[in-house]
Amino acid sequence: MFLAANVVLVTVFFFAGGVSDRPLISAGRLAGLYAAQAMAFQLLLVARLPWLDRRLGMDRLTSLHRWTGFGLLWLLVAHVVFVVFGYAGLENHNPADEIIVLANTLEGILRAIVAFVLILVVGAASARFARRRMAYETWHFVHLYAYAAVLLAFTHQVAVGQSFAGSVLARTYWWTLWLGAGAAVLAGRVVLPLWRNVRHQFRVVAVVPESADTVSVYISGRDLDLLPARAGQFFLWRFLTRDRWWQANPFSLSAAPDGQTLRLTAKAVGESSAKLRTLPVGTRVFAEGPYGAFTTLHQQLPNALLIAGGVGIAPIRALLEDIAGHVVVLYRIRTPDDAVLLPELQEIAKARGAIVYVLSGPSDLRGAHGPVLGPESLYALVPDIAERDVFVCGPPGMTAAVLRSVRELGVPGPRVHAERFSLAA
Ligand SMILES: Cc1cc2nc3c(=O)[nH]c(=O)nc-3n(C[C@H](O)[C@H](O)[C@H](O)COP(=O)(O)OP(=O)(O)OC[C@H]3O[C@@H](n4cnc5c(N)ncnc54)[C@H](O)[C@@H]3O)c2cc1C
Repeated sequence: MFLAANVVLVTVFFFAGGVSDRPLISAGRLAGLYAAQAMAFQLLLVARLPWLDRRLGMDRLTSLHRWTGFGLLWLLVAHVVFVVFGYAGLENHNPADEIIVLANTLEGILRAIVAFVLILVVGAASARFARRRMAYETWHFVHLYAYAAVLLAFTHQVAVGQSFAGSVLARTYWWTLWLGAGAAVLAGRVVLPLWRNVRHQFRVVAVVPESADTVSVYISGRDLDLLPARAGQFFLWRFLTRDRWWQANPFSLSAAPDGQTLRLTAKAVGESSAKLRTLPVGTRVFAEGPYGAFTTLHQQLPNALLIAGGVGIAPIRALLEDIAGHVVVLYRIRTPDDAVLLPELQEIAKARGAIVYVLSGPSDLRGAHGPVLGPESLYALVPDIAERDVFVCGPPGMTAAVLRSVRELGVPGPRVHAERFSLAA
């Protein structure tokens, strides 16, 4: 709705400002304006504003960001191609010469070319095949070019865009949009995290091995009761040791925040998660968050089914403490050794009258009713599943299978909540 209103507004400003008699040039300019809008929208999506994050969750914001990115790329290609071919036709040049003429005669064109190339680089790095082959840090670093591209594109729009030379209303709109988007990024990405870390002074107070490959890290700080964190949320944790201060990794809270301590439980899958085991007590921590919509804030019915796969138990264990109604927990693991946090899960369940089922076995495990997380098996274990909210967190394959099963069992979409442990979907 908000987006549609903005698109309509820009279209109205465009036509009110007078249209070129060359359809290609007009189409190119309009595509450029929509691209500028998409860029500002992208800034809003990556700003990590708590208000937006609590409602949509970071994985949905990331997915929206990805799709807007595709749209933006095509709008920019259309903008460049239409404008260049439009002016080349008008002035009887070939398109390659026209680019040189435009760059030499109009202020801001060179900046636009650099911005376009940067966006192409970021777009290429975001393609799935490239993303999979790149270390997270490299991918993230390349993404930072996008900020330079936005700055260059903005100055290009100010220099040559008719929207800025046109009516006062249009100018006011564009300034508000760009300043608003810039302020959102500054607030969400810089000011708020800095403020929280200065205020809370996070430090590691204990590191407890939970299994051969999983460890819990306890973090304390000042005035943690004032930190607006909820069970089911996660932080981007940066442990400030000499060899790893430059890496930030997302880990969920594995216990509901109690105002004294925060706890994360991490499985070693790569270098930084493996190093958590040797993290010295007293290490200072820079934590960004809390983030995520995998909380009871979105719960619709009092009773819930919580499904965890492997280390996906971390936010599920925290949610078990937070849900007021009756809870059933399904904990899916490969071998009994993988059942981290099980004793405390069972203890909380006992105190709260919740039921815990541990489903142990290989990924193709079947029971009397077919695959253990298939619709028939789920129904056999939890016959009132359609009258519960379902929270699921586990590996992508398992999560997808559970989502299919609960859909088949008639649990409506808004009552199904998933945390995917991946921000790059
Ligand atoms: C919202 C969320 C919550 C998570 N909660 C938990 C949890 O409670 N317990 C747990 O064990 N794991 C959790 N994870 C997964 C965990 O973040 C990764 O396993 C960890 O970051 C791997 O880092 P690594 O450097 O050891 O491994 P690498 O081999 O460097 O990375 C392995 C995978 O993790 C991804 N990754 C690495 N760093 C980041 C980052 N900063 N942001 C996004 N993805 C990254 C990479 O894309 C890669 O696919 C969560 C992930 C997300 C997105």
